[in-house]
Amino acid sequence: MTMNKLNYERPIINKIENTMPNKIGGRSGFKPITEIDGVRIKGMISNFGSPLFVISEATIRKTYQSAYRAFTTRYPKVQFAWSYKTNYLNAVCNTFHQEGSWAEVVSGFEYEKAINNGVDGRHIIFNGPDKTKADLQKAIANQSLIHIDHLDEYYMILNIAEETNLRPQVAIRVNMDTGIYPMWDRFGFNYENGQAWDVLNKIMMNKKMDLIGLHAHIGTYMMEAEPYKIAASKLSELAVSINKKYNHYIKYIDLGGGFASNNTLKGAYLPAEDTNPTIDDYAEAISSALLNSNIDPDHLPLLILETGRALIDDAGSLLGTVITNKRDSKGARNTVLDIGVNILFTSFWYNHKITPVQSFSHHIEDTKIYGPLCMNIDVIRESISLPPLNTGDNVIIHRVGAYNMTQWMQFITLRPAVVMISEKGDVNIIRESEKIEAITDYEKVPSHLKDFDL
Ligand SMILES: *Cc1c(COP(=O)(O)O)cnc(C)c1O
Repeated sequence: MTMNKLNYERPIINKIENTMPNKIGGRSGFKPITEIDGVRIKGMISNFGSPLFVISEATIRKTYQSAYRAFTTRYPKVQFAWSYKTNYLNAVCNTFHQEGSWAEVVSGFEYEKAINNGVDGRHIIFNGPDKTKADLQKAIANQSLIHIDHLDEYYMILNIAEETNLRPQVAIRVNMDTGIYPMWDRFGFNYENGQAWDVLNKIMMNKKMDLIGLHAHIGTYMMEAEPYKIAASKLSELAVSINKKYNHYIKYIDLGGGFASNNTLKGAYLPAEDTNPTIDDYAEAISSALLNSNIDPDHLPLLILETGRALIDDAGSLLGTVITNKRDSKGARNTVLDIGVNILFTSFWYNHKITPVQSFSHHIEDTKIYGPLCMNIDVIRESISLPPLNTGDNVIIHRVGAYNMTQWMQFITLRPAVVMISEKGDVNIIRESEKIEAITDYEKVPSHLKDFDL
């Protein structure tokens, strides 16, 4: 008779901390989080599987409304346009559209998505360097707001205007020095070196299109408000000069997106919530620059904002399950989750906050959190103070609403479901978990490769 030999585990001494503040001051998750908007997390995992993206409709609406208020209390004419690439799940876009947001798109595919969602073409802003002739023909026919990125695009629009006798509604994207480096000068026309004036003069002289706006998107996750003040001043100066030279009023100034969310960047010493500007800070910088400019007060332009991450990050959570715990060669604790970097792209940028979903002991230990992929780069957190989690325990990763559900990658595993909790507390699937057919239906195997004999 053979006896099962017990697995041998090398004895190691681990530094376990008690619940005293560590040198950073705090730590993630003193208390488990068991619910989102009153809905039990464990219940959602048993109904919809793990991992699972959860979006809170109430948080989207609350975040949107407070951002809108921050601007409308300071400037009389404000319009938000939802940045599709930040999260283009239709249920998310439609929540923003119900709140009054227009659509901001950067490709033909996103443009089509906005049209299919029912957005009026006149309320779609079309940005980006890659608009095909077919895209532009459609956008011009729909009277969408086309933000010209480069001269070849300008000539293509001119060509379509001549062919169709339609008047394209255009703005130009302007890049500029706002004191933030590296400067995002690859998009649009430069302010300082005269490129912007060059294209503005072309537009105004040939009279084939309507110049309706000026646009800038100076960067993303901007940790200061001051650059927006500079950008708003420079666009105002352009608007005033256009008026002086051509007696023409532009209808809007669009300051783009880029406000920081509450996620903390890797390498930051303090939590983002304590250090980043608030929406009120950004709103104050932009509004005061516009109001203090020489723009004719009887022709104040509409202020458009294309805020992405700051409006959606908090509304998204990612639920997952512990696969196993291991000790690495130095004895440090490694916890492996079923959440990989392929579905949590932002783990390359952020130290995402992670909280256990069930009660835990008071001991905590520095832990490295891995995903399930067979790739060394699949690290969710290099180091996080967490209580020991057991196989099958659940965790919630906070603030994942921006960019993950558009940049996620089907790799090794299939992508999980996304659910949205309504304001009434109903949980609706807004994207099914992928099935193998989602991949294989697009594949073709040439006939000579169909059969083999092993
Ligand atoms: C990506 C993008 C946005 C949204 O940016 P956030 O940093 O997420 O706010 C807005 N406008 C344009 C042109 C963009 O490319």
